[in-house]
Amino acid sequence: MGLITAQGKQPLFSFGVISDVQYADIADGRSFLGVPRYYRHSILVLERAVKKWNDLQKLSFAVNFGDIVDGFCPKDQSLNAIKKVVSAFEKFNGPIYHMIGNHCLYNLPREELLPLLKIPGHDSSAYYDFSPIPGYRFVVLDAYDISAIGWPKDHPKTIEALRLLKEKNPNTDKNSPVGLEGLERRFLMFNGAVGKEQLQWLDNVLQDATNSKQKVMVCCHLPLDPGASTSEALLWNFDEVMDVIHRYKCVKVCFGGHDHKGGHSVDSHGVHHRVFEAALECPPNTDAFGYVDVYEDRISLVGTDRMQSTDMVFPPWPVLLAFWEIAQPDFQSLAA
Ligand SMILES: [Zn+2]
Repeated sequence: MGLITAQGKQPLFSFGVISDVQYADIADGRSFLGVPRYYRHSILVLERAVKKWNDLQKLSFAVNFGDIVDGFCPKDQSLNAIKKVVSAFEKFNGPIYHMIGNHCLYNLPREELLPLLKIPGHDSSAYYDFSPIPGYRFVVLDAYDISAIGWPKDHPKTIEALRLLKEKNPNTDKNSPVGLEGLERRFLMFNGAVGKEQLQWLDNVLQDATNSKQKVMVCCHLPLDPGASTSEALLWNFDEVMDVIHRYKCVKVCFGGHDHKGGHSVDSHGVHHRVFEAALECPPNTDAFGYVDVYEDRISLVGTDRMQSTDMVFPPWPVLLAFWEIAQPDFQSLAA
């Protein structure tokens, strides 16, 4: 039904999406949970994605949700592997907006990685925003702002991350969730948090977007909603980030990667969360990428093969809620 209603309408703009390419020139393997990983095939998925995006001739840009090269890539090959994936992305006829993932940081430190990915930011931070048309704004979060990977060992952010991990995860191997219950299972070394300064920046951007009547899409390598992700893949302080997001009504969708199986949920405030299926886990000659058509009141993700298509309608209820807030005194006087 959603597709039928969309057919008559041209999207305002469209953009390509792909996540967790995790390329490496090594033999196929398996994840911690035994899921097959196709390290050499994944760059072919990316190449087919870029070809498809170019063939469509309507995409304004594409977004890479992080983890472009796998942590098992031999370290003397890291730079070349990253350059190879970046140049595959650069065959796209438009801008690519990158974000960093844990696997990128296993291969290169921030100061080398960020310029290669042309990620804007300051002091090696990797959060930024952009506005493809006046009515829409994209916020790209740095999920490894507070992290035990990517910063120098004696950096205050490394120390803060290690202190938090020590407090929350008693295991010797901080990548092991053994013994952790429910949402606490996210306190793993391969995850991270959004720091105070970035949270304040997010608040300012959302305030500005609200003032400018912009709709916002948040992009973060780590998922922000337990309904769309396993507990083990969540941002450490997803709750703090969502508290900021829920203070406003401008954020319509949060996109993520990292949790390779993918997911979709609508949270208590009507915000959609869509975690993308990983390119890495595509058996030979299958794909996982897509593009998003953006409308005034909804977006439509058109997926290929293993990436599910998802229609995401923005809930009308924040409008009703605003109406309720205005109308409430009258109801109260009626009740009295
Ligand atoms: Zn990841």
